[in-house]
Amino acid sequence: MEKDIENINNEIENKPKRRIKKEARNIIIATILLIIGFLNDYQTRYVSYIALVCYAISYALVGLPVIVMAIKNIRRGNVLDEHFLMSIATIGAIILGEYTEAVFVMLFYQVGEFFQNFAVDNSRKSIKALIEYAPEVSNVIRDGEEIVVETDEVEVGEIIRVKVGEKIPLDGIIRKGETSLNMAFLTGESMPVDVKVGDEVYSGSINNSGVIEIEVTKDSWDSTVSQILELIEESTEKKATLESFISRFARVYTPIVVVLALILAFIPPLITGTSFYIWIQRALIFLVVSCPCALVVSVPMSFFSGIGRASKNGILVKGGNYLEVLSKTKTVVFDKTGTLTYGVFKINNEISFSDNEWREIGSSLESYSTHPIAKSITSIYGDKYKDEITNIEEIRGKGLKGEYNGKIVAAGNLKLMRDLGSDIKEIDEIGSHVYIMVDGKVSGVFIISDTIKDDTKEGLARLKKLGVDDIVLLTGDKKDTAEKIASDLGIDRVYSELLPEDKVSYFEDILENSKDRKVAFVGDGINDAPVLRRSDIGIAMGALGSDAAIEASDIVLMNDEITKISEAYEISKLTVRVARQNVIFALGVKIAVLILATFGLAPMWLAIFADVGVTILAVINSLRIL
Ligand code: ADP
Ligand code: MG
Repeated sequence: MEKDIENINNEIENKPKRRIKKEARNIIIATILLIIGFLNDYQTRYVSYIALVCYAISYALVGLPVIVMAIKNIRRGNVLDEHFLMSIATIGAIILGEYTEAVFVMLFYQVGEFFQNFAVDNSRKSIKALIEYAPEVSNVIRDGEEIVVETDEVEVGEIIRVKVGEKIPLDGIIRKGETSLNMAFLTGESMPVDVKVGDEVYSGSINNSGVIEIEVTKDSWDSTVSQILELIEESTEKKATLESFISRFARVYTPIVVVLALILAFIPPLITGTSFYIWIQRALIFLVVSCPCALVVSVPMSFFSGIGRASKNGILVKGGNYLEVLSKTKTVVFDKTGTLTYGVFKINNEISFSDNEWREIGSSLESYSTHPIAKSITSIYGDKYKDEITNIEEIRGKGLKGEYNGKIVAAGNLKLMRDLGSDIKEIDEIGSHVYIMVDGKVSGVFIISDTIKDDTKEGLARLKKLGVDDIVLLTGDKKDTAEKIASDLGIDRVYSELLPEDKVSYFEDILENSKDRKVAFVGDGINDAPVLRRSDIGIAMGALGSDAAIEASDIVLMNDEITKISEAYEISKLTVRVARQNVIFALGVKIAVLILATFGLAPMWLAIFADVGVTILAVINSLRIL
């Protein structure tokens, strides 16, 4: 096992590096040989053996991999891709005695690939750095007390506590509590899996409903296996979205080009009686020209530049396609607490119905939750009775309940109290209300309020200026609080008092009424995760947000600022604009040269020059994004 991990880790760390080094070496050697061959050729005015050997070696270095790839793809049933195009074009050139050209074409293709790999590698590195920037922590129980330590420092055999919405940091066995887990990262399915005492759980799973305590069975190094696998999967997925654009394009483009070349090679000589040699040569030039190098390089380049620019600004974009979708977004739906507001509550008032220690008991119960309300209350009243509370269950969108001295304790909103059989009347006071139930009776209420983030108003205004014309608020909070915030911020529509499942159904309504308008959702909590997953673009708060939200999202804002959304939006628009410019420019030049080639007006060198020039310009254009 140990060995496997090392291997996997090495693969991830070194494979791109090794590949890039090897590519660079091949390109340099091939270039030198090409120059030697060309000079030799030029002096002697006929193809010397030395030149031939030089060409052969450099073609083998840069061209063979392409031919191998073409054959591999043919075996996979993918006959007409760009590798195939390059292979027949250059082999044709060799048959015609145009050795320099054949090497040239392959060489430039490899240079393009090299740049692309380099860009991919860099963006992967910056994403990795961002992930490492937020070290993983665990709640470990030492001497009967819960303390937060870096996950690396937890030993096998120790007990860790995982709250609702948190990611399980280490592999282990459940010793206390039961819950359902989201193991989407392992199984790809987000169907929750129920687990109870004695069950084995894996790091990376997300805790959905109950607080659990786990005996750690593997240290962090071992537990990372699953996460490493996740990483591999992620990176292949990412590549797939990029490649899919190119291969979608190639699937249409290549057959057309090949058919046109065949027509060009055989029809005119048959009709006009001119020499086949000339027309076959033109057809081959036509094939070389048509090689979509500039496209293959520049489109992914633009998207990677976009991702890179975003990550420099603290915006983590999980794939190029998300930038494309974001640029088309017209509706942005927001969660309230923790998203538009800081999620740091202060207690404005307390109403007491009992002289028991409801504040401390309620606060101790809240210490099992990661909800912003819970964290705020615990920071004031502490967690003195934490260990006496058992069977804790968090009811999303309502609060949490447990047992204290064998009787029900609960902390949450009116809905929760009603569910637990209380008939208490609603408190009539502005603010959010947290009812505390002890011994099965409501013993007191905290009236709390939250502050809107400093940059929320500006962030929303900027979005409107950029063309988002529909800003919606979906919240679990009370109607009056929600409407006040909406009118303060200029939000177009508000839906309040929603349970998490209501959030999903309201959001689906919005999606349905949007047709081709893309809809983004911005949220922070575990209760937002289902909506984040369903949205066209899910944006999560990276600092305060729960792991569940971050996992379900497509874009993560590392410092939770709302103005970052407009920044991401601008970057996405720029990226798509640049990618589109590149495509139009490359296709334009290509078509022009293709027409010239058809009439025999484009010599091989012009064909290559057109492609290389366009590629370089497209790459420079992409770098503009950075
Ligand atoms: P929001 O949409 O504002 O982020 P949530 O769906 O997270 O809200 O929660 C909705 C409501 O449920 C909250 O306004 C609060 O009244 C109640 N609630 C949820 N979790 C808790 C908790 N741990 N303690 C107290 N109240 C809670
Ligand atoms: Mg929230």
